[in-house]
Amino acid sequence: MSAKNMLDNAIENFNNAAAMLEKEYDKELLDILRHPGERAEIQLSPLLSDGKIHIIKAFVVKHCDAVGPCKGGIRMASNVTLDDVSALAMEMTWKCALIGVPFGGGKSGVVCDPLPLSKLDKQMVVRSFARNAHNHIHPLIYVPAPDMGTNEADMGYIKDAISHAMGNATTQGCYVTGKPVILGGIPGRREATGRGVMLTVIEALTVMGKNPKEVKVAVQGFGNVGSVAAMELFRMGCKVVGISDINGGICNSDGLDVVALQKYYLEHGKLQGFPGSKPISGEDLLEIECDVLVPAASGNQITADNADKIKAKIIAEGANGPTSNEADRILEEKGVFIIPDILCNARGVFVSYLEYTQETQQEQMTVEEVNERLSKRMRTKFRQVYDFAKERDVNMRQAAMLLAVKTVCDAKVARGYLP
Ligand code: GLU
Repeated sequence: MSAKNMLDNAIENFNNAAAMLEKEYDKELLDILRHPGERAEIQLSPLLSDGKIHIIKAFVVKHCDAVGPCKGGIRMASNVTLDDVSALAMEMTWKCALIGVPFGGGKSGVVCDPLPLSKLDKQMVVRSFARNAHNHIHPLIYVPAPDMGTNEADMGYIKDAISHAMGNATTQGCYVTGKPVILGGIPGRREATGRGVMLTVIEALTVMGKNPKEVKVAVQGFGNVGSVAAMELFRMGCKVVGISDINGGICNSDGLDVVALQKYYLEHGKLQGFPGSKPISGEDLLEIECDVLVPAASGNQITADNADKIKAKIIAEGANGPTSNEADRILEEKGVFIIPDILCNARGVFVSYLEYTQETQQEQMTVEEVNERLSKRMRTKFRQVYDFAKERDVNMRQAAMLLAVKTVCDAKVARGYLP
């Protein structure tokens, strides 16, 4: 999807919800939420190991802080744009409101392909971001986290860079989430989002009266979200019939052994060639014969071009914004049940909230505590959205958006927005 489309898509999702809320809220209040509150473009100029200074653009967008400090990850990719980051920041506002954490929506982008960078050069780029975006990052203003292209180690460097900029050994309060455990991170953070995806799929199967053991699943993406979602669904007894990563995918209609596949992937660095599997392209994987499709790669994968070829009855949006509005309409007509991104992958930001409170209160949570709280919240929220969708006779995305936008509007009103 072009950058413009990604933002257009996010605005259209908002407009659909806003149209249903016109009678409840002031028009100007809804107009405010249609656009980000602040969009900053920042220039980075790290000196990298080739001996050269590299000019790299970065963005920080704060969409809305009515519910609390803006929260959202740092996306590092060669094609990320200010409009993409704006769309993603907007989505974070709804995600945080829906899952019930006291955060607003924000996002950052660094226009740089992390893949060819050495470990040290990546660290230099991340530190340069921390130094130059420092004024925007604060526990009470905007708290970053990992997103596509950034990881746990990078969050550790950000914490370190900010601590030292202040002349301290650590930060007071939580400036960044998704850090290594030794620096105040939460155990199980890496698996959190993928596990949440699995939980929402199991909830969807339950309301449909389907047994996970009789269900075929295809997963697009083998990163943090896709690989964990595939593993967790496999453990629940689902037949994982196809998986892809950026280099293409593999399939087997009798099911892939995901445990063995993880091992194979670690050894070979690729999915292709896994014994007993057939190669398949990333695009064809979306159209494979299956019951549940988990797009967990990048945005805009399911569009007007392929939506009518999709065979799955359930789509669980592990990625942010994988489905275009046109595709949404086609899938709705086909009766496909979509678990929208702001619900499906919200476990990531919920675990960020636990990390934030843990650091603020200087506590240490156990994995058991974290998992119990996360799973309970995901189940409750799924049911809340499902029941609301039934009550209002709308689909899951509309129900999730309505609940989220209402929460944000209520926060604005509570702050005294209206006379
Ligand atoms: N990048 C993740 C997301 O899109 C996590 C954001 C966060 O924890 O702040 O939900």
